[in-house]
Amino acid sequence: MYSAAIDLLGRPFAGMAPARRKALGLIVLAALLLLFPLYHNNDADIDAMANAGAFVTLALGLNIVVGFAGLLDLGYAAFFAIGVYYYGIFTAYQVMPEWHSWWAPFAAVGLVEKINQGGPDLVHFTLSFWIALPTAGLVAAFFGVLFGAPTLRLRGDYLAIVTLGFGEIVPIVFRNVDSVTNGAAGLNGVKPPQLFGFDFGVDATPYYYVCVFLVALLVYVSIQLRDGRVGRAWMAIREDETAASAMGVDLVKYKLLAFAIGAAFAGMTGVFYVAKLQTATPDMFNFNVSAMLLVMVVLGGMGSVWGVVLGAFLLQILQSWLLPELNHVLHGIGNLVGNGFLQQIDLTESIQLIFGLILVFMMLFRRDGLIPAARKTPPLNMTQQTAMVQRGGFVGMEKIGRWEKRAGNALEIKGVTVKFGGLVALNKVDLVVPEGGVVAVIGPNGSGKSTLFNVITGLVPADSGSIRFQGAEILGLAPHKILEKGVARTFQNIRLFPNLTVLENVLIGQHARLKTGAAGAVLQLPSMRAEEKRARQWAVDIAALFGNRLSPRLAQTVFGLSYANRRRVEIARALASRPHILLLDEPTAGMNPNETLELAEQIKSLHELGLTILLIEHKLDVVTRLADNVVVLDHGEKIAEGPADEVRQNEEVLRAYLGRAGRAHAAAVAQAAAVDAGGASNA
Ligand code: ADP
Ligand code: MG
Repeated sequence: MYSAAIDLLGRPFAGMAPARRKALGLIVLAALLLLFPLYHNNDADIDAMANAGAFVTLALGLNIVVGFAGLLDLGYAAFFAIGVYYYGIFTAYQVMPEWHSWWAPFAAVGLVEKINQGGPDLVHFTLSFWIALPTAGLVAAFFGVLFGAPTLRLRGDYLAIVTLGFGEIVPIVFRNVDSVTNGAAGLNGVKPPQLFGFDFGVDATPYYYVCVFLVALLVYVSIQLRDGRVGRAWMAIREDETAASAMGVDLVKYKLLAFAIGAAFAGMTGVFYVAKLQTATPDMFNFNVSAMLLVMVVLGGMGSVWGVVLGAFLLQILQSWLLPELNHVLHGIGNLVGNGFLQQIDLTESIQLIFGLILVFMMLFRRDGLIPAARKTPPLNMTQQTAMVQRGGFVGMEKIGRWEKRAGNALEIKGVTVKFGGLVALNKVDLVVPEGGVVAVIGPNGSGKSTLFNVITGLVPADSGSIRFQGAEILGLAPHKILEKGVARTFQNIRLFPNLTVLENVLIGQHARLKTGAAGAVLQLPSMRAEEKRARQWAVDIAALFGNRLSPRLAQTVFGLSYANRRRVEIARALASRPHILLLDEPTAGMNPNETLELAEQIKSLHELGLTILLIEHKLDVVTRLADNVVVLDHGEKIAEGPADEVRQNEEVLRAYLGRAGRAHAAAVAQAAAVDAGGASNA
């Protein structure tokens, strides 16, 4: 029904280019909003709209933390409180130190004034609303980092509990520092904004316009962040923290950034809100507010900017307008039928229950929210798939260029030991990968091959040993630093960012090679636009290396791809980071013989371009085809090393793979084969 309605509404505009349709939609929306106070000149409704706008901006901020970065924050209202009290304290008649001549310069720029209430001269803070608005963003961002820092290592439930704690503590602090905040009684006489001598006073309309501006600004900021390098890094963290760090995302930095920017939105909203209300009590920021904001985000669609705007708006209107109206209706019916319960009912008191019901219904029927963040691209149909030429080997190689030829060893591992409690996963392992070479690591399951990759890429700490990449020690570096140096990897159990598209996955691979930060994304400097454009082209070129396997699927979310294609995306993502050495953990696992052959050819082409490769592989034909040197691990120890053919004959290796009985069996098979061959020649 819902989608049918959307369809019907969209039909007249179906012929338009999407960009024009979007622009038209925005212009109509802007016109409706800007003209609202003129065609609907009702102060109470304009005020309700301004309040709804405040919740929209709060929800947008929470969406950055929860929706983009996937960090569940249950104490978000604390930052709102910080913004409120920041402006409140610096304009209300609450904190008034005695006047001293060193206040004079502040008075000259209008930050304070000298007042006298009988007794000594006092200082009254008169912070301008227009200065407070942006600076509240900075102040709240500071607290965002402060609260975020100790919680960074936590995930999911643990993070939720700690943020819940912060959310409770902040209002308690404001309640208890009476001299600054007037405690539970609340601040009074907060100054309304002034613009060119015009005082906003208590008329709702000017606040409404400030609010429309604030919403527009924060929607813009949200969208710019979402669509660039920073937003992709957040979403990578949300989707898979381990993979994000292995692909070059600095987890600490980007989590703090999400906390800070989310908090900044709340701080700015706080200034607006308290200026309009002109009073502040600690009760305004209890857990219910954080919970309500979370419901708004879930209702609208986590990570969806327009969805969150809609969700927050709808819930706020429900609360401030629809439920009171419904009360009236129900009271009327109650009076009519003489029902005492209906006469007394107050639906706004059951708002928590209603929020709960909304959450349950969303989870049951529309998990992605009213406007889902991910645009669903349907999978290719049969004709599209069969129309595609299946090509083996990489194509378009010239686009990615050659790797610079160097001498010496790319990777030198010496005496690396990794223990998990009592289990020795790697025991004094030595391994060398020469520049431009292909080394394969083989060994039975559980022999420590993946652990070797994890320790090289910084995901697992080593107990002892040394790992040098191009001569420099990398053991002990954070995973994103190791990627920056040029070591990229894939995972045995594919770790893509499942809810992102193929293109986005490959773009995240480039994270370390791009520079755009939050400010750059918001300002959209020409250099940043150019960088983004280059990054997209590079991603398209890399995907095109796999022939027509990935190129037609760039806009599809990866969880819908076939297993083999997901493996290809993972390799493309690693290649996108322009690595010097590529670590492939069982890249052909789960592929059929044709696909295996195709991928082996592709890996070979990369090697021919000069890429250094370290490969974990079970399929011996692939190993023989690709590797110059084979290292065999068993129970965390290196038991053999050499060219593939030699290693195949090695007694130790046979025993490790087949066990004692297996070895006898293998010997018997070999003997039988020899007898057969002899028999054949005799005949
Ligand atoms: P392989 O890749 O050769 O199959 P792994 O490196 O995955 O083997 O595992 C080697 C051993 O280390 C196994 O016994 C495995 O159970 C153990 N192991 C791997 N990772 C961890 C971990 N994070 N914590 C505890 N034990 C681990
Ligand atoms: Mg493994």
